[in-house]
Formats: sequence, C-alpha cells, structure tokens
Amino acid sequence: MTIDEFSRPEEYISPLDKHLGSVIRQWAEEDVMPYRRRFDEDWKEHKIIEPAFKKLMADLGLQMCLFPEEVGGWGLGHSNYTATISYRMFEEIGRADTAMAVAFGVTFWPLTTITVEPHVNIRLCKEFAPMFNTDKPCFSALAMTEPQGGADIENIDLLKGRTIQTTAVLDGDEWVINGHKLWPTNTGGVADLLGVACTTRSGSDDPNDFALIFVPSTTKGVTQGGPYEKAGMAADKNSDIWFEDVRVPGWYRAAGPGDDARCFEEIISWGQMGSSAFLTGAMMNLYEILYKFCSEKTYNKKPLKENDAIAALLGRIAGDLDICRVIGYQIARMIDRPDIYGGRGSRQVISKIRNFKEFIADRAVEDFGKAMDILGFYGADRAWDIEKHWRDIKIIQLWMGGKQLCQMEAARYFFDCKSL
Ligand SMILES: Cc1cc2nc3c(=O)[nH]c(=O)nc-3n(C[C@H](O)[C@H](O)[C@H](O)COP(=O)(O)OP(=O)(O)OC[C@H]3O[C@@H](n4cnc5c(N)ncnc54)[C@H](O)[C@@H]3O)c2cc1C
Repeated sequence: MTIDEFSRPEEYISPLDKHLGSVIRQWAEEDVMPYRRRFDEDWKEHKIIEPAFKKLMADLGLQMCLFPEEVGGWGLGHSNYTATISYRMFEEIGRADTAMAVAFGVTFWPLTTITVEPHVNIRLCKEFAPMFNTDKPCFSALAMTEPQGGADIENIDLLKGRTIQTTAVLDGDEWVINGHKLWPTNTGGVADLLGVACTTRSGSDDPNDFALIFVPSTTKGVTQGGPYEKAGMAADKNSDIWFEDVRVPGWYRAAGPGDDARCFEEIISWGQMGSSAFLTGAMMNLYEILYKFCSEKTYNKKPLKENDAIAALLGRIAGDLDICRVIGYQIARMIDRPDIYGGRGSRQVISKIRNFKEFIADRAVEDFGKAMDILGFYGADRAWDIEKHWRDIKIIQLWMGGKQLCQMEAARYFFDCKSL
C-alpha cells in the first residue's frame, strides 16, 4: 500500500493533479524531507529552509500560478479546479512540512481576492505580478489578528468587523493605515506583500466599512518585529507588525465597499481548506512512518502490526486518513463550485467548512497522539520525524479563531443561534 491508495474523490480531481502532484512530491522528497529535522534550529535564520522555498516558489514558478496569463501567470484563478488543485499542492507540501505548506498557502491567501474568479482585479494583478515574477521566492501575508483578539475578527458573520482596531482613512486618493497586527504567517521580514484587514470607521458593523487593503511591505511606516520562537512550525515566521501613517493608493483596496467583506468571508473558507490539506498531508506521512516502524519492529517474534492491540490502533489511524481526505477534497469542491454548494463566503459554506476542518484537526491530533503511544520512545526520538509533525499539527488545530469559533459557527448554522 502507498499513500496514493487512500480515498480521494477521483471523479472530480483536477486534470493537473497527476503532473503537479508528482512534481511537488519529488521536490518534497529531494529538497525537504532529508533536511526537515534541522528546521527547528533554523527558525530564525531560515538558512536551510530558504533554498527549498526558492526551488518551489521561484524555480518551479508556483508563486505565479494564481495570476492571470496576461500578466505572466498560469491562470489558475480562472479554473474550476483552483481549490482542488491547491488542496493537492498543500497536501503534498504538508506531508513533508506543514509550516512550509502554510507559508506557501498564505502566499495565495490574500491573492485569492484579486486573482480568482469572480474577483479578478486586473489592475492590481498588473501592479503586483512583477513582484512575484522573479527568480527569488516572493511571499504574501494576510494580517487579520490583533492584540485584543483574533477570533472576534474572524467571526465576521456575527461581528462584521466591529472589533477591528486597525484603521484605514481615505486622504485624497490615498489610504492612511494605522494599527498593530500579530501573528501573520510570513511576517518577521519574509513577506513582500501584505493584505491588511482594516476598518474605515472604528466600531462599525456596516460591511461597507470593512476594507482589505494591499500594502507592499517596504512601504514607509510598516515595521515588523523579529520572528516568534514557537513550539513548532519553524518554516513559518510570525511576528508583530505595526502600521504607522502608512500611505498606499486608494485603488489598493481589494474589491471595494461591501465586496471586501464578502472576499474576507471567502478567505475564511480558503484558510480552513488549506488547514485541512496541511493536516491530511501530515497524516499521510504519519501512515508511511507507522507502516515502516510497525512492519520492521517485532514483539514476541512477530511484526508489531500483527499484534491485536497495535493493529486496532493502526486500523483506526488508517481509517481516519481515508475519511479525512474525502472530507478535505469535499471542502475544496465546495469552494470551486459555488454554483452547486452556495457562495464560498455564505454562512452555510463557512459553517460546514469550519466544521469539517475541526473534525480533521481533531482526528489528526488524536492520531499523532496514538502514534506516539505505538512508537514509545521512538516517537519522541527526532529521528522518526513524528514528534515534529505532532508539535506542528497541534498549532493548526488552534489557529484561525481556535476550536471554539469552529464550534460556534457550526452551532450558529445548524441550530440557528442568534448571539454567537
Ligand atoms: C503558526 C500561526 C500562524 C498564524 N497565521 C496567521 C495569519 O496568517 N494571519 C493572521 O491574522 N493571524 C494568524 N495567526 C493567528 C491566529 O489565527 C490567532 O491566534 C487565532 O485566530 C486566535 O486569535 P487570538 O490568538 O487573538 O486568540 P483570541 O481571539 O483572544 O482567543 C483566545 C481563546 O479564546 C477562544 N475564544 C475566542 N472567542 C470566543 C468566544 N466567543 N467563545 C468561546 N471561546 C472564544 C478562542 O478560541 C481561543 O481559544 C497565526 C497563528 C499561528 C500560531
């Protein structure tokens, strides 16, 4: 058995799946997996991590894939399979290192609001494509979370942005941005382009007052802190970012009044889809490691996997991977086919996708815990690469508003709750 035997809904896999999937798998096996054990010590410098990113993003050209053809991109944003093929890419990268997967995925994240149908903003695509069309890796960041609380900002359906404290004021034909964000993936000096969630009227819950504004990271008044040292996810740098009278052109707003809020709702669905793909990717690698360990190690002269107590756990872990991949690809299809499932940012779709992601995250966290029980001290031994995934995937369970927001959004939809 190989990881490719696990369920995927074959009838709606992208035509690009085989080619792109195998290119990324080869990159992961040659450029990431042999070195990933040393990533933890490289969290600040990214000396070992950077060459692998360069190959993926610049040499293979993936950082241009969402942009339309007319600005030099691959035009994936026009496809009916944008999310489905992204899922495969994120999963393949996540199998090797979920932090690399999030750094890569977040580069797409704010760009979905200007490159993916029906939101293509060709003027902004022309403006930012040259930044990405280079032989150096180029990253984006999406700055939502603020010191007073990230979950409230992501709870856009209920709070509609009224807790956002980062302000954007139109002065002539320029936005002037002031505020403080925490945690965005690819900060700490990595990202070249920032998508910043702002309010144009403090305390307002009018969707017209929510603004998603692009800010090149070198703009005067943008200051980034050093990267945080985390429990894991060393290939993703996160830090504080301050905006002090930062001025950008008025047309750097993603879609305009009302539409920015809609794009932000869609961003939640994209983010949960990516998180699910990172998790199932890590679970695929968990299966591979367990297969080897439980086939080679023996107990009472039999391979470990031939013992009842171990086999029961292995069956559950493999079964969870089988189920979670189906759910994960279902999320991708819900994003790709709003004509069938409803708008990507609709309450129904966000609630279901948050619910699916929480389910996958819980299975992943439980299954890595069970694997640690099976491997015993080998699980804690860095040589087996389990404890690294174990630390990384716990973080995926907690980000994007945490478990509670996933549960609240599911309850809101299924039980028609009014106040949470
Ligand atoms: C590796 C990593 C990458 C990240 N990437 C990004 C990024 O790219 N962009 C970005 O903007 N942020 C990013 N974040 C931040 C992350 O999304 C936030 O930490 C998360 O949304 C929670 O926000 P918070 O930390 O402010 O916690 P809070 O919002 O203060 O919540 C604290 C706790 O209270 C719970 N809670 C909140 N509200 C309620 C409620 N009403 N009822 C019950 N419980 C509640 C939460 O679930 C959580 O457990 C990242 C974080 C990490 C660790």
